[in-house]
Amino acid sequence: MCNHAVGEMEDYVKAALKKGLQQITFLEHLEVGIIHPERIWLTDDDFDYYFSEGKRLKKKYNNLIKIVLGIEAGFNPFEISTLNHLLQSYPCEHVGLSYHFLFNGSRHLNMLSSRQKNLIGLMEMGVDKVITSYFTGLLQGIKYLNVQVLCHLDGVLRYVPEITFSENHWKQIELILDAAVDKGIALEINTSGYGIRQEPYPEKKILELARQRNLNFIAGSDAHHPNQVGRFFSDIPSLFS
Ligand SMILES: [Zn+2]
Ligand SMILES: [Zn+2]
Repeated sequence: MCNHAVGEMEDYVKAALKKGLQQITFLEHLEVGIIHPERIWLTDDDFDYYFSEGKRLKKKYNNLIKIVLGIEAGFNPFEISTLNHLLQSYPCEHVGLSYHFLFNGSRHLNMLSSRQKNLIGLMEMGVDKVITSYFTGLLQGIKYLNVQVLCHLDGVLRYVPEITFSENHWKQIELILDAAVDKGIALEINTSGYGIRQEPYPEKKILELARQRNLNFIAGSDAHHPNQVGRFFSDIPSLFS
């Protein structure tokens, strides 16, 4: 329902069963107040359908797999109260925090997109500034929103080759991990990264910092096609060996 995925919800449940998973969590994308030509998030009506279809599937597959209906909440520093209100009003069982859209003064640019339109605008703002704003936003999100998992932590500018984080960015990452510890928030190991850079989001070095803090991990495949459900999950244990 985010306009760039294929298949029905039930196809994803069937794929999870085929993979032998005991649980599948849907994380449908919520954004508030974003000015952007492509809508990659759900409308209110979409969410109505999502929760009713999810409820039906929960019943139908009750004995076979646990289905959790979650939301990936996109942070927006100007819409914190609306985001909180929506997260409370939807019957969602699990909330992931992400930060996709950065405001450049006139419109929003997707920091995780491969599209030139986004990347050119972000480069104009400056790599350092974009990355700093991204981590600042995530830290605020952890503070002000009620979430259970932190999604694709280092996904910012993932399509800009040779992005490196500065010392200051690493300090921000450590602050985020510390805040996640304080609030009991888990860290997602998003395996879509394997298809792009042979490593999940976040990278191994961050996973190690999280492990040192005893953070919980949640495997996420960011599946946008039923075939992608549980992708690369078998590679996760080796990240910690
Ligand atoms: Zn999507
Ligand atoms: Zn996301």
